[in-house]
Amino acid sequence: MQIVIIGGDAAGMSAAMQIRRRQPDWPVTVFEKGENTSYGACGIPYFFSGDVAQLDDLVVVSPESFRKKGLDLHMGHTVEAVLPAQKQIQVRNAQGETFLQSYDRLLIATGAAPIVPPWPGLDLEGVMPIKTLADSRRLDALIQAGRRKVVIVGAGYIGLEMAEGLKKRGLDVTVVEKLAGVMGQLHAKVTEQVSAELARHEVTLKLGVTVQGFGGQAGSVTEVQTDQGSLPADLVLVCLGVRPNLPFLKEAGLVVGASGALAVNEKQQTSDPDIYAAGDCAEAFHRVLEKPVYIPLALTANRQGRVAGTVLSGGEDRFPGVVGSAVTKVFDQVIARTGADLLSLEKAGIPYRLAEAQAPAQAHYYQGHGQVWVQLVYHAENLRLLGALMVGNDPSLAKRCDIVATAITAKMSVLDLSELDLTYAPPFAPVWDPILQAANKARFQLLS
Ligand SMILES: Cc1cc2nc3c(=O)[nH]c(=O)nc-3n(C[C@H](O)[C@H](O)[C@H](O)COP(=O)(O)OP(=O)(O)OC[C@H]3O[C@@H](n4cnc5c(N)ncnc54)[C@H](O)[C@@H]3O)c2cc1C
Repeated sequence: MQIVIIGGDAAGMSAAMQIRRRQPDWPVTVFEKGENTSYGACGIPYFFSGDVAQLDDLVVVSPESFRKKGLDLHMGHTVEAVLPAQKQIQVRNAQGETFLQSYDRLLIATGAAPIVPPWPGLDLEGVMPIKTLADSRRLDALIQAGRRKVVIVGAGYIGLEMAEGLKKRGLDVTVVEKLAGVMGQLHAKVTEQVSAELARHEVTLKLGVTVQGFGGQAGSVTEVQTDQGSLPADLVLVCLGVRPNLPFLKEAGLVVGASGALAVNEKQQTSDPDIYAAGDCAEAFHRVLEKPVYIPLALTANRQGRVAGTVLSGGEDRFPGVVGSAVTKVFDQVIARTGADLLSLEKAGIPYRLAEAQAPAQAHYYQGHGQVWVQLVYHAENLRLLGALMVGNDPSLAKRCDIVATAITAKMSVLDLSELDLTYAPPFAPVWDPILQAANKARFQLLS
């Protein structure tokens, strides 16, 4: 049984190691176009902020370690086409030579690529996306060469994390966003808190401004052109989100879902039963919306990769889906969410009600306590929890959000949530945790 994996990061290598554990003698061949395997891209912003000592610390497992575990791993090899009729893939090596590789079962784990519109001036030195360790090394070299004025295009979570990282690195940072709010206009409260936090740290945020291109001198960027004039810059980071990395599949005939990512069943099989997909190139079933969605995140990639690895190696497993949990921070403000957002609920015709609380994160008399805002979303008829959004200056929000993620997964109602026996001591929470305070608001409305 020849198993071939395309992509050597989270999803691909989770699968590879699962196959190796279950079937020590099966040949597993991996093609990775880049120079790293299994690395934490999520840590890139924290290298620039100084919280991670060096970029190499982000590498979890090196190619040499994988080879020692018996994987036939080919770095610098790009898969250019999948040919399902003949069960082969076409590969190009670092020397530019192409060859065909046969497979019995194939896993596509090619992740996502940054969205970069065809703006004029994209080829100027200093204009770049930030996705890989190679991008990070390039950015680091430009900063070390003296570039100081960065414009970040896009106020999504990666743009905001990079804004914090580069400000802490000593750069002059401006974030430009065409929408009226940050993080895809998640909620006015989030935009309000994040804007204030950026201002407090002297990061300029320009909302409602559309980038049109870049100007430069001697091949290097000097300005960002927008619909409201130009902004000086010697560095530009394009942080507009990602889309599934699928162009090499044009001729393969695999079904792509409505989200634009590869459609997979709960075994991670694509429309071709011998071809599997996992991670940022694939859809995931949303357990609240009960439909496939595209939410490219690291834990999903690892979980889907593990399921694919088990099934590919002859075992039984299934991926039950995601509830859309995510967290980020901008300096001291934490933004956490889980479940379905309001727009998705409206589109799906799911009736909902809201319960909100603004509360101290610890006992109100405990010096230096944080302040958090919690919004719970629950079904207007059966009262099941559908989602939560939290923002505030306390790191505990991430784990508080995980409580709601657990409750959503367990199909609990907002009343069940209000009855949880959570921990209390002044340094950790008020007697009624902010989550319980929000759930109590719903409880009073419903039971009074
Ligand atoms: C700056 C940054 C911060 C992030 N922060 C977070 C976070 O805090 N939390 C979180 O959950 N997620 C975060 N993410 C997202 C997370 O990194 C991804 O969800 C995760 O890496 C997806 O893993 P993957 O294996 O599916 O794809 P990838 O990590 O993209 O790996 C795909 C691999 O396939 C290779 N490849 C692609 N095409 C080919 C081809 N044709 N031939 C051969 N090889 C190919 C690529 O080189 C790549 O190594 C962040 C991402 C970035 C960039």
